[in-house]
Amino acid sequence: MNSSSGAGRLVGAGSTGAGSPQARRDEIATNLADVRRRIERACRAAGRDPSGVTLVAVTKTRPAADVRHLSALGIADVGENRDQEAALKAAECADLGLRWHFVGQLQRNKAASVARYAHIVHSVDRVALVEALSRGAQRAGREVGVCCQVDLGDGAAAGRGGMSPGQLLELAEAVEAAENLRLLGTMAVAPLGEDPTRAFTRLARLSAELVAAHPGARMVSAGMSSDMEQAIAAGATHIRVGTALLGARTTLR
Ligand SMILES: *Cc1c(COP(=O)(O)O)cnc(C)c1O
Repeated sequence: MNSSSGAGRLVGAGSTGAGSPQARRDEIATNLADVRRRIERACRAAGRDPSGVTLVAVTKTRPAADVRHLSALGIADVGENRDQEAALKAAECADLGLRWHFVGQLQRNKAASVARYAHIVHSVDRVALVEALSRGAQRAGREVGVCCQVDLGDGAAAGRGGMSPGQLLELAEAVEAAENLRLLGTMAVAPLGEDPTRAFTRLARLSAELVAAHPGARMVSAGMSSDMEQAIAAGATHIRVGTALLGARTTLR
């Protein structure tokens, strides 16, 4: 494959035309520059340092080739939401030294597999999952970071996963007590049909309660392609961005 750059590069069909690896890399580079600008602008508006916001590139449904493009463009954190797909991609891209974030709903019988490659699981929402992840992490001889996913939906607004806010401290205790897990913070998805700023403000309050009890648990994973500005304004430390980097997905997830 002709993907080298510089003076000696051959300009051949299939290497630089539309649909070529180089064209895809250019497309992602343009998108990434846009996203970085959005992050910088949102940080400036909020009086925050952009270095306090980690961009997690969500690569679900995308080929490992896209992960390689992102890595070449400076992305160090990638997110996936299905174990089987994530495990394959993490293995294919093991040479890149990336941090793998698991951001999807997680079944207990997949926890041990996820614990083998994930650095951070954003979507821990029940004690049974804590136990299963902990066992998996012990077996793999690894430490896995954990965020507690909170459901910010209240009544009218449809919930999008996570435990009810009243269970946050109890779940955090369970994570803190579990071997080979490290409690990092909170995660949420803004409910559909509600102003994301209101939802992320509730998350910020919950995060403050968590930090009061667990000072190390300052991570706030919030914000996606459509609402990263609101999430950054509310204090997100990690944003999870797929569409704005890689284009619209053809499958609904
Ligand atoms: C898919 C997904 C994202 C990324 O969503 P985009 O709208 O494509 O940026 C973020 N978080 C979670 C939990 C996801 O499943």
